[in-house]
Amino acid sequence: MDNITALGGDVYEIDTRMAGYAGITAGYLILSDRPCLVETGTSTSAPVVRDALASLGVGPDDLATVVVTHIHLDHAGGVGDIARFFSSAQVVVHEKGARHLAEPSRLMASARMVWGDKLDTLFGELAPTEAERILALGDTGAIDLGNGRTLNSHYAPGHAKHHVGLVDSATGDLYVGDAAGVYLPETGDLRPATPPPDFDLKTALDSIALFEALGPQRLLFSHYGPVEAVEETLERSAEELRVWVDLTQQARSEGMDLDHAVAMVRDRTKERYSAMTADEATAEQFELLNGAASNVAGILHWLDRVSP
Ligand SMILES: [Zn+2]
Repeated sequence: MDNITALGGDVYEIDTRMAGYAGITAGYLILSDRPCLVETGTSTSAPVVRDALASLGVGPDDLATVVVTHIHLDHAGGVGDIARFFSSAQVVVHEKGARHLAEPSRLMASARMVWGDKLDTLFGELAPTEAERILALGDTGAIDLGNGRTLNSHYAPGHAKHHVGLVDSATGDLYVGDAAGVYLPETGDLRPATPPPDFDLKTALDSIALFEALGPQRLLFSHYGPVEAVEETLERSAEELRVWVDLTQQARSEGMDLDHAVAMVRDRTKERYSAMTADEATAEQFELLNGAASNVAGILHWLDRVSP
């Protein structure tokens, strides 16, 4: 299938085709003795993911684990559907996200407040998962991939308070979710992802430092794909955060309202990303995944909390 890329080490990248777009949301299949899916994509992506797994030989009874880096709908919106398709799979998530997967109504209500009618076309509805199928992770945890191989989780808040990073013991791959930002393989651009309501600069920087300390061989971005230049990329993740926070802080101290702050930050960061000055479609990809408005709103929300 044209949405599957073999990455080596029995790892397959699956384009989950959020809202029909190619190349913006990735899930990963670790095809070990106990196959594990990392990130489901949205609810509307679930049939795409199921078909991809089937073509890799993973049938309804073959998937051992589904794990999500965090419960935002572009990562975990399909958990309920995937759990139904693969009835023996255990669902693994940080403990701060677990109850939302079992009872998604509050999460869906707040998502609808943010996205309005766009929610249905972008994400669809997160279906509930039976609580007894959910394994909640603490600060660390391990997923058994079979044959001595494990996927080790590390609590990594900052982007979201229910975010983890996951390291594959066999390959040294680190699944970064959104904690290191959003990476565009077409241009090599990296932008921070700082949405409300959880964004916190200090914990976000701590999580990036933790990722560096884990010494991974490769980063696997949910948006989008593998990156081999680990140290350089994580340093850039931290720098991007500081740039966006500094500019937003400046806009705030000048008394700008949200719209003006967003326009200012977007303008002042534009030349950092070739995607923003490349073709319109690539710029749109960035804005869809992590709009400047969402980033600036998240930073302002954090600033209001730490320095009212
Ligand atoms: Zn995301």
